Amino acid sequence: MWRGAAVRAVRGTGSSRAASGAAAAQLRRWLEGELEGIRGAGTWKSERVIASRQGPHLRLAGGGAGILNFCANNYLGLSSHPQVIRAAVQALEEFGAGLSSVRFICGTQSIHKDLEEKIARFHQREDAILYASCFDANAGIFEALLTPEDAVLSDELNHASIIDGIRLCKANKYRYKHMDMHDLEAKLQDAQKHRLRLVATDGAFSMDGDIAPLREICQLAQKYDALVFIDECHATGFLGPNGRGTDELLGVMDKVTIVNSTLGKALGGAAGGYTTGPKPLIDLLRQRSRPYLFSNSLPPAVVGCASKALDLLMESNAIAQSMAAKTQRFRSKMTAAGFTISGKDHPICPVMLGDARLAAVMAEDMLSRGIYVIGFSYPVVPKGKARIRVQISAVHSDEDIDRCVEAFIEVGQKHGALP
Ligand code: PLP
Repeated sequence: MWRGAAVRAVRGTGSSRAASGAAAAQLRRWLEGELEGIRGAGTWKSERVIASRQGPHLRLAGGGAGILNFCANNYLGLSSHPQVIRAAVQALEEFGAGLSSVRFICGTQSIHKDLEEKIARFHQREDAILYASCFDANAGIFEALLTPEDAVLSDELNHASIIDGIRLCKANKYRYKHMDMHDLEAKLQDAQKHRLRLVATDGAFSMDGDIAPLREICQLAQKYDALVFIDECHATGFLGPNGRGTDELLGVMDKVTIVNSTLGKALGGAAGGYTTGPKPLIDLLRQRSRPYLFSNSLPPAVVGCASKALDLLMESNAIAQSMAAKTQRFRSKMTAAGFTISGKDHPICPVMLGDARLAAVMAEDMLSRGIYVIGFSYPVVPKGKARIRVQISAVHSDEDIDRCVEAFIEVGQKHGALP
């Protein structure tokens, strides 16, 4: 019987089979209404299809070769680095496609342990634990660590995964105004009644390219006996003299207790995330953190990529340093041309435009000039603060950056975005 069903299913491939029945029809009507609502609100997110590797130059499906790419988190250009790719192939051949298991059943290989050790060494922390993504690391930490007796204090502009992770825990929740130390202090005073306090912030904020005032946060944490957690997805690998991140940049590596970050951006760009911090915390996460306990092990090829990326960064700080001058070039040329670029010294360079339609139309026009950038508008950023987010990579050449600036000037003048 099962075989018959399987054969029918195989024969059925090639043409989709819509479910029938009143409930399915009702669902379809509701879905279509929702989708129409998203389109009507102008917040539809369409996906451009890339037909080449990730890199500073791309080919888009259906044409578009030689497109200059300014919207990936490939900050160090390691996503297509030959040594990173070779390491992935080797890991694939030696350790297979995947583990078909979670870590604690039969999903831990020597390369997982090696990578965890390497991550901890890179961040100068005691231990580390891998997740399928940083979204999972953020979803898994607060619930495992905090009880109803505790408090978590979170920057209002923290990444969605931190917000969701905090939602899952039973601690008392405080949301402080973005990078507002007066507000954080007031909330810390109120939170003195709780057993344990954890301040949670992005190290670098991905929509604005601004960097959390970690020195001040750590001072307040010391004053009010709190722990500090940072999400370093947009900092690991390139901020600080050795690319260790925001805590290294601001000289507080010994004051930040917990670091979560991703392997899916600067560190090879494949996938995966982690928590690094005190050994007992990592031990507890292995016992209690649900995305770790109930999700498959990272595939060997992914582990191979990240491991090689970390080797490259630990061999020399030249890669980590290679991006700062490129970022500076873009920011200063754009500012001189009359654009407002949010943030400071970070390769996330949001070109502030205000109007959502203007951001969308300008991004389209940039693509027609061979520059791939994306417009962001509400609800991803606040109303009236639409922007085109440009991300600089170490592998952009000076000519690439100049071409991008020139296109912005042309498009900005055409649409009245420049004086
Ligand atoms: N935290 C921040 C600040 C991010 O920008 C992202 C990715 O967009 C994540 C967490 C999630 O990382 P991952 O892609 O590894 O799930």
